[in-house]
Amino acid sequence: MNSSSRVAVVGTLNLDQVVHVERLPADGETVLGLSQTERPGGKGANQAAAAAAITSTSLIAAVGDDAAGTTMLEYQRAQGVDVEHVRRVTGLSGRAVIEVDADGTNRIIVLSGANAELTADHVTASLDALDPEVVLTQLESPREVTDAAARWCRAHLRRFVLNPSPVAALDDSILALADPLVVNEIEAAYYGTADDLEPLAQRLRSRCTSAVITLGAEGVLVIDDGRVTRINVRGVTAVDTTGAGDVFAGTLVAHLAAGIELPEAASLAADTATDFVSRSRN
Ligand code: ATP
Repeated sequence: MNSSSRVAVVGTLNLDQVVHVERLPADGETVLGLSQTERPGGKGANQAAAAAAITSTSLIAAVGDDAAGTTMLEYQRAQGVDVEHVRRVTGLSGRAVIEVDADGTNRIIVLSGANAELTADHVTASLDALDPEVVLTQLESPREVTDAAARWCRAHLRRFVLNPSPVAALDDSILALADPLVVNEIEAAYYGTADDLEPLAQRLRSRCTSAVITLGAEGVLVIDDGRVTRINVRGVTAVDTTGAGDVFAGTLVAHLAAGIELPEAASLAADTATDFVSRSRN
């Protein structure tokens, strides 16, 4: 029997292989790597872990029957994430190969693996069992999965939060359900071209229920109920900003699920994300 969770994250699990090189190879060139590390990643997994630090959270996803799948499931459990609805499928788990040079410039190849096996039926059945207050998803999974999560929220009057990353064209009907759409500045410009932030915010507002634009060190813009609220973040020395957007999104939905209003939830999430970028993860 499944217990209910306040937050369900529908998304991906990838084992990230990070290879450090002095400089990235040119086409057809081979270079020697300096070091490598493996760590659990994937937007779904990262966001679920951030939400689970605050409230009961389930991850709806798929991993392979390989050692990487076992490692990632164990890691999620250790973060307090319920993985009852992570399907185990035959074959390889998702992986990301990340090359980082001495300047921190990176190149990333994502191999979807088992993530491509996540189906709309599995998502719908899992959401029926969990009956969460809030559902958060991204665009790393097959599109039918995003659509199924949005449709389930509409049918059950639950909050649908969409972090459209990697950015891609979306049906207006799906965009309209996002409450909020959580985007960084680049993603925001994709959905609502404008010269400045304020008109961009208004443009987004006309397309979705509410929106949150994260602006790195410049804080956050919340567009809700016809109001645009600017949230400033503390000045910190950023040590590593990788994954800050995932920490923000996961923390945001956890506070929304607890009934906190969007501007206040965004302010709390920005605080947590700002702490996160100021800490070293090595
Ligand atoms: P990423 O793709 O690196 O995961 P993102 O582009 O999706 O991140 P950002 O807007 O860069 O998201 O950052 C999300 C939040 O993290 C910001 O709203 C802010 O709270 C915090 N943050 C990120 N960079 C900084 C910084 N340099 N100083 C303070 N806070 C930061």
